[in-house]
Amino acid sequence: MATSYDVAVIGLGGMGSAAARHLAARGRRVLGLERFGPAHDRGSSHGGSRIIRQAYFEHPDYVPLLLRSYELWEELCRDSGADLMTTTGGLMLGRPESRTVAGSRESAEKWGLPYEMLDAGDIRRRFPTFAPADDEVALYEARAGFVRPEATVDAHLRLAARDGADLRFGEPVLSWAPLPGGEGVRVVTGAGTYTAGHAVVCPGAWAPELLAGLGVPFTVERQVQYWFAPRGGTAPFRPGRHPVYVWEDAGGTQVYGFPAYEGEGDGVKTAFFRRGTAASPDSLDREVHPGEIADIAAHLAARVPDLPGRFLRGAACMYTTTPDEHFVIAAHPGHPQATVACGFSGHGFKFTPVVGEILADLATTGATRHPIGLFDPRRALTGGAAVCSPDRRDAHEVTP
Ligand SMILES: Cc1cc2nc3c(=O)[nH]c(=O)nc-3n(C[C@H](O)[C@H](O)[C@H](O)COP(=O)(O)OP(=O)(O)OC[C@H]3O[C@@H](n4cnc5c(N)ncnc54)[C@H](O)[C@@H]3O)c2cc1C
Repeated sequence: MATSYDVAVIGLGGMGSAAARHLAARGRRVLGLERFGPAHDRGSSHGGSRIIRQAYFEHPDYVPLLLRSYELWEELCRDSGADLMTTTGGLMLGRPESRTVAGSRESAEKWGLPYEMLDAGDIRRRFPTFAPADDEVALYEARAGFVRPEATVDAHLRLAARDGADLRFGEPVLSWAPLPGGEGVRVVTGAGTYTAGHAVVCPGAWAPELLAGLGVPFTVERQVQYWFAPRGGTAPFRPGRHPVYVWEDAGGTQVYGFPAYEGEGDGVKTAFFRRGTAASPDSLDREVHPGEIADIAAHLAARVPDLPGRFLRGAACMYTTTPDEHFVIAAHPGHPQATVACGFSGHGFKFTPVVGEILADLATTGATRHPIGLFDPRRALTGGAAVCSPDRRDAHEVTP
């Protein structure tokens, strides 16, 4: 039986759950469709922790969104009663001219964000778990920390449901398309056909299939998160002593990590920022291989002397990367009845609450006060994997 909604949200992961929450809070009749269960570990929003920071080396234009995101995280913690965010301070480490250090400093300066610059001696004295080389420095940002991705998705979903959203799990969307005449969309799943005034499409690593018509050359990458038990125990790695960090080496490779925190047992989590391999979400290799563990272990041993210690476990996750590593958030250029959010390029989670707000703005009013010019899918984007052939442009079909 066809049911009509104001907005159908396709994909209830990091971004879709936030969109559903913001739309339901504005009194819209929301349908949410998700192929897996709530807060699952098959996409891009699992693994217990995600770094949040404001002095953003990726581009200064992200900073106003981060400031709003921090406000919304606090609101979300209050409204849901969940413990979602821990401020630990953050070190952006590398040579002074590295993108990680210089880019963070540029953003902090441009927006007047508080920060400290530390030389190698300062870093060793204040944070003895780290062993920088003499020519390395760090930008220290007291407001950095981490959020809990599964608990955040769960909080957004619970609040959306409380406000009346109809959330359906285990129901993959097979296709979506504008209705003839242009008023609204039709969404087909294995269980039925729905109509809605508008679609918000947030499919994460399934964007190459569900948003082929955008013509953005996305690359889906497999990225592994690793947990190690430090030599000598976790006490020196607790929040307050061991901040979150991103550490860039002379070759531009970035490794990042977290303190040991409640719920993580006796381990600390680390990962390479961008050293993934091309992957497909339906055939992702979830096994973590000895060569990969040896690779990150060698990288850590030179920088965090109490690591790697003992390997505990690993978990594969996916990035959906655009050629310039900036997001895609916009009204669909071909279909004004749809809003899209995808291509978060491995750094999107810290924005989930503000992306939810932006998607609700775009779906209900066609505009947003937030600066999203950087995320226009029509910008010049070349490279990556070609996923769009001309005959698929308007199909939006998931091939079974
Ligand atoms: C290892 C790793 C570490 C990261 N670290 C950080 C970090 O420290 N800080 C940070 O800010 N970001 C980080 N990120 C990035 C961040 O987690 C992602 O950018 C963010 O989670 C993406 O959210 P999403 O909603 O686009 O994808 P997802 O959360 O995967 O949601 C997409 C959803 O769509 C559903 N879906 C897809 N197709 C269909 C369909 N046909 N029908 C129904 N449902 C469908 C999927 O099942 C999924 O639930 C990291 C990512 C990884 C993998």
